Amino acid sequence: MASLAPTPTSNYRGRIAPSPTGYLHVGHARTFWTAWQRARDAGGALVMRMEDLDPDRSKRLYAEAAMEDLRWLGIRWLEGPDKGGPFGPYVQSRRRSFYLAAWRRLLKLGYLFPCRCSRKDLATALGAPHESTEAAGQATGQAQAAGKLEALDDEPVYPGTCRPLQASALQPGSAARELAAPNGCNWRFRVPDGEAIEFVDQKLEPQRFVAGVDFGDFLVWRRDGVPSYQLACVVDDAAMGITEVVRGADLLKSTARQILLNRALGLRDPAWCHCPLVVDHNGRRLAKRHEALSLRTLRQRGLTPMNILSAELPVAV
Ligand SMILES: [Zn+2]
Repeated sequence: MASLAPTPTSNYRGRIAPSPTGYLHVGHARTFWTAWQRARDAGGALVMRMEDLDPDRSKRLYAEAAMEDLRWLGIRWLEGPDKGGPFGPYVQSRRRSFYLAAWRRLLKLGYLFPCRCSRKDLATALGAPHESTEAAGQATGQAQAAGKLEALDDEPVYPGTCRPLQASALQPGSAARELAAPNGCNWRFRVPDGEAIEFVDQKLEPQRFVAGVDFGDFLVWRRDGVPSYQLACVVDDAAMGITEVVRGADLLKSTARQILLNRALGLRDPAWCHCPLVVDHNGRRLAKRHEALSLRTLRQRGLTPMNILSAELPVAV
């Protein structure tokens, strides 16, 4: 199996970013394999970043299992939690100061507003209790059961309850705008309503999402003190010099949000490459609860990496 050159011969920097909230499955294997192939083919570097920000769901056991499973598949990275590197730490729970700095900058620039809606408030306003913003775990299961692929990993459009009237969310001089740290409420990014966010994906058709219609004012910091996926992702991709993001097509809409964050923070967009999702035989997207399709289980059953990467599982965007 070919490996990455010890010294990259191009400026390409890709990354693989597992969340240690369960064992990796066939879908992750294929996406990460694509990321590795693209880095290798470009003569670039591949970075491993552990996205363990959710303190309740992240487990050290899963972080170690993810790295072991990916090594077993044949994926190699040049920088990561196990190897170190010039842009560390490569574990998100140890990068809080980076996210706080970005939060403060966004706040100062007037992009953020505090949101005091409870889950229940949001559910009521949206008339869809199962799509509550924060109840991701349970909600995902229910949305999947209902066959709503669209709703997966996605926040519903925020109903605007706490949104200030002014375009500059918090006026200069307001006490909230001088806060040093998020203070126990949700913080949202005010999106430019009606503006179309467009990008060219390296694998899929050109993409277009309208702010305020396809997605709304999204979470940047959660009331439990955890930065949102969107914020942590753009901050780390920029700090780690990532030139192309390869990830699952379930994150297409997140890319539109992240383009807005990059613009607000003055960061350059990487190239985007979204991989079609692997679905099970019932047409449902694979989740970490699909134990039978976890790399661990398949490996114990004697499958080889080649079997896993070429298996005849249906694939859908
Ligand atoms: Zn609110």
